[in-house]
Amino acid sequence: MKRYSALGLLRGGFDGHKSWERAWRAPEPKARYDVVVIGGGGHGLATAYYLASRHGVRNVAVLEKGWIGGGNTGRNTTIVRSNYRLPEMQDLLEFSLKLWEGLSQELNYNLMFSQRGAVFLGHSDSDMTLLAQRGDALRCNGIDAEILTREQVRRLCPLLDFSPAARYPVVGGLIQKRGGTARHDAVAWGYARAADALGVDIIQNCEVTGIEVEGGKAVGVQTSRGRIAAGRIGICVAGNSSHVAGLAGLRLPIESHMLQAFVSEPVKPMIDTVIMSQSVHCYISQSDKGEIVLGGDPELYPSYSQRGIPIRIEEVAGQAIGLIPALSRLRMLRCWSGVTDMSFDGAPIIGPTPVENLYLNGGWCYGGFKATPGSGRLYAHLLATGEPHPITAPFQLDRFERGAMVDEAASGPLPQSR
Ligand SMILES: Cc1cc2nc3c(=O)[nH]c(=O)nc-3n(C[C@H](O)[C@H](O)[C@H](O)COP(=O)(O)OP(=O)(O)OC[C@H]3O[C@@H](n4cnc5c(N)ncnc54)[C@H](O)[C@@H]3O)c2cc1C
Repeated sequence: MKRYSALGLLRGGFDGHKSWERAWRAPEPKARYDVVVIGGGGHGLATAYYLASRHGVRNVAVLEKGWIGGGNTGRNTTIVRSNYRLPEMQDLLEFSLKLWEGLSQELNYNLMFSQRGAVFLGHSDSDMTLLAQRGDALRCNGIDAEILTREQVRRLCPLLDFSPAARYPVVGGLIQKRGGTARHDAVAWGYARAADALGVDIIQNCEVTGIEVEGGKAVGVQTSRGRIAAGRIGICVAGNSSHVAGLAGLRLPIESHMLQAFVSEPVKPMIDTVIMSQSVHCYISQSDKGEIVLGGDPELYPSYSQRGIPIRIEEVAGQAIGLIPALSRLRMLRCWSGVTDMSFDGAPIIGPTPVENLYLNGGWCYGGFKATPGSGRLYAHLLATGEPHPITAPFQLDRFERGAMVDEAASGPLPQSR
């Protein structure tokens, strides 16, 4: 693989950028791989990259039914942070955040990772008490977190509504300065290019339609491009987790729900941090192109649809304008939705399944983009060694049988109430 560099870019300018080689190959599937990863989103591609780069397992295929990054990886609002409430989630996401911090250099691919800070707004004294508790817990675990006064929030984002008549009064906030955003599709492309260079076969337009199980052991997959035998199989398909696990006869504690996002027309820089409000259920950032990126709540009912419903657009636009009235002047340019894999405690599953040689990475709900490098690295450990990494020990599938939930939102066993 030719390394990307400033000099290379300059050289490309002289021949009209015609000499760039393909970033990854388009190989025909082989008859057998040591590991087959189902799903070419960020998590699947990262898993393949770390299998090859950290564990020397290079006879690996990533099977993607559409195009890589076309699932939730390319549909999310790109927020990266590790300031979660529970220590299990903090450990997992801080592990991931540390990987983000060196990832563009490692992959030799500009992921546009921007540590512009991520702020939770507090709208009442009780919000601030919860934010202070979370901040204390984060700092005890060595993770950066700072409480902000109302004045500090005003300096950070003067366009928030600080008037006496504000619909959502701002009392203060909690910031993680190392949080921010990354360019989502670049993450898929960067991992794909680096994995391909190590010999991984990335096979697009290849839908897994069956999982072959013999004597309790997964031995291969049937695909739209023929049968492929596999030593180990890793499911990594986000909103399709229940369906794909069902091909091996498994029922998962996961429901698929739509989650929408929206962008406005591009404007000059006006918001230079990520703003989130858990009370209002709205998050706002500005992309490098200048679009205002908005997200809200998932739909309450299960669905595999990738089109959102109009009422949610109205709701999120109303919430965003309530927080930043100047947004009312902007036109909404696009909206879309993804299918999120809502687990019954809101936490991911990275572990073996009851079928030998079949592993699961799913249940990331609406928060898995930030976990992409960590999830890939830890899932690669599992697929290479057969043993869960200590960080993923709390995230095993059998926790639902054991009642050992990781309930970050403290909202009980209903995905729709998160
Ligand atoms: C609107 C929205 C906003 C979000 N915002 C954020 C955010 O700000 N921050 C954050 O951390 N997270 C966010 N998320 C969640 C995040 O996007 C996901 O958790 C994460 O991207 C999941 O990555 P993945 O690689 O597991 O899944 P995906 O990118 O969905 O990849 C799974 C792939 O599997 C493929 N596949 C499915 N079935 C098959 C099959 N049978 N055979 C072969 N391939 C198959 C799919 O085509 C897909 O490409 C958001 C999600 C949505 C929808």
